[in-house]
Amino acid sequence: MKNIYAIGVGLIGGSLALDIKTHRPDAVIHGVSRKDATLTTALELGLIDQKATLDDIENADLVIISIPVDATVKLLPTILDKIPDAGLVVDAGSTKADICKVVETHPKRRNFLAMHPIAGTEHSGPTAAVAGLFKGKTNIVCEVEKTAFKLQEPALKLFTDIGMRMRYMNPVEHDRHIAYMSHLSHISSFMLGKTVIDKEKNERDIFDMAGSGFASTVRLAKSSPEMWTPIFEQNKTNVIETLEEYINNLTHFKELMKNDDFGAIYDEMKNTNHIKDILNGII
Ligand code: NAP
Repeated sequence: MKNIYAIGVGLIGGSLALDIKTHRPDAVIHGVSRKDATLTTALELGLIDQKATLDDIENADLVIISIPVDATVKLLPTILDKIPDAGLVVDAGSTKADICKVVETHPKRRNFLAMHPIAGTEHSGPTAAVAGLFKGKTNIVCEVEKTAFKLQEPALKLFTDIGMRMRYMNPVEHDRHIAYMSHLSHISSFMLGKTVIDKEKNERDIFDMAGSGFASTVRLAKSSPEMWTPIFEQNKTNVIETLEEYINNLTHFKELMKNDDFGAIYDEMKNTNHIKDILNGII
């Protein structure tokens, strides 16, 4: 895989490009983006070797799409139209059902691999790219059986070489699980940030009193709305279900407080401490 095209050179596309350059020094990374300024930054930061356009991907061995999921759904069929028979298109989007659906009957479906690397930060754009982001992280691969074996094999080897552990799942299950494991945490963090901002209009007070608990819980509220809005839109049904369960838990907690039932509040927290065993070794 010599000619690699990164469509989207932000946190995920840029970080993948950095790791690929380390593990495949012979590869040439071509960057494609909406804004030329973004490509210039990616070039200056050494994420990509040269600028390119969508038309150039007829020369690609591998195309990696890392742009917001609504843009992926719009662009993916055209990108697949252009990819040569021996080329593979991979997408790194945080939702999988709509993306897999849009190419379900595409004549080149076997040239597409759907994946979701479970790695990231709250930062975005090329300046957020970091080497080693994917080391030891899970990469969820969907519908692997629909990708030509001779194309998936070198790509999965590449992702393994940069440190990812492959996990296989169908796209509908992926979206259901990820609503709980990732999407709800982001909404919860955004709304925690909003609640505090609304109450503490004087931002200086927030800054002075922000302890590590607030800072770590609200960290995800710095994430990009441009990336997250289409994720919530595509995973609306699952996200609403998680929100209903979360709101029920918050309401229950409030009722216990109103009723001075601090024994039950203690028990709720004690039971939830079990999260330590579940996450042991992850964080
Ligand atoms: P990012 O840092 O914001 O980078 C995305 C890039 O896509 C931007 O540099 C932007 O380039 C381009 N872009 C934005 N809107 C676009 C549009 N409508 N059409 C075409 N290009 C557009 O985002 P990211 O965190 O790398 O996320 C990229 C993908 O990875 C998303 O699908 C996301 O769901 C997925 N993902 C994210 C994480 C995470 O934690 N952040 C983790 C796993 C997967 P321009 O400046 O040129 O517009």
